Amino acid sequence: MTTLDILVVATHPDDAEISVGGTIARSIRQNLRVGVLDLTSGEPTPHGSPKIRIRETETASQALGLTWRRNLGLPNRSLEASLDNRRALAEVFRATRPRMILAPYWQDVHPDHVAASALCSDARFWSKLSRSDLDGEPWWPPAMLHYLSIHLRIQPEASIVVDISDEIESKMNSVQAYQSQLVAGREPSFPTVVDDIRDRARYWGWAIGKAYGEPLLNQEAVRVDGLSHFLQ
Ligand SMILES: [Zn+2]
Repeated sequence: MTTLDILVVATHPDDAEISVGGTIARSIRQNLRVGVLDLTSGEPTPHGSPKIRIRETETASQALGLTWRRNLGLPNRSLEASLDNRRALAEVFRATRPRMILAPYWQDVHPDHVAASALCSDARFWSKLSRSDLDGEPWWPPAMLHYLSIHLRIQPEASIVVDISDEIESKMNSVQAYQSQLVAGREPSFPTVVDDIRDRARYWGWAIGKAYGEPLLNQEAVRVDGLSHFLQ
């Protein structure tokens, strides 16, 4: 398996695009090796099917320029932070050796998202253990940031906001790929879910004095390599 700079762990196909699609596209443009690991198929849903979701996911990945994407095949709607699931995720961390993990935020109304967030923290810890029977060599992903979902309508303080002004159209194209989830069967009048996603990106752009942004939150202090990081 390829090694990655950034691994985005998404509970369902479409979560990565909705929350950090712009960050993914920007990171790829900056020549970082970015991967997305969807934990579940996301199915069943009212207007989707496994086949439709796979096709939508491929279209979305192309819109972002993603070349590494996998699905761990864990059970949708009943995802648990179990030992077996922790093992499966820790083995992906060991295989891809990401320098940063983007994980779901720890508070959510969707139980799968809460479980996925806990799984990321737990698997990160297990990944580093020596003298374990996990596949692969021990690896401690040095950074883990969390992204916000759209289910829980809260706006916590962001630790950092990524400027995605140049990537907003790539993000929205990737979001639009999920017609079965975000368009089918929904009222077409303003504000649609797609409008909400764009407007939230605009809000976070406003927060940093730019056109569009995406927030990331951290449980640990954010390490920077000197203050030159902020002098752009
Ligand atoms: Zn989701």
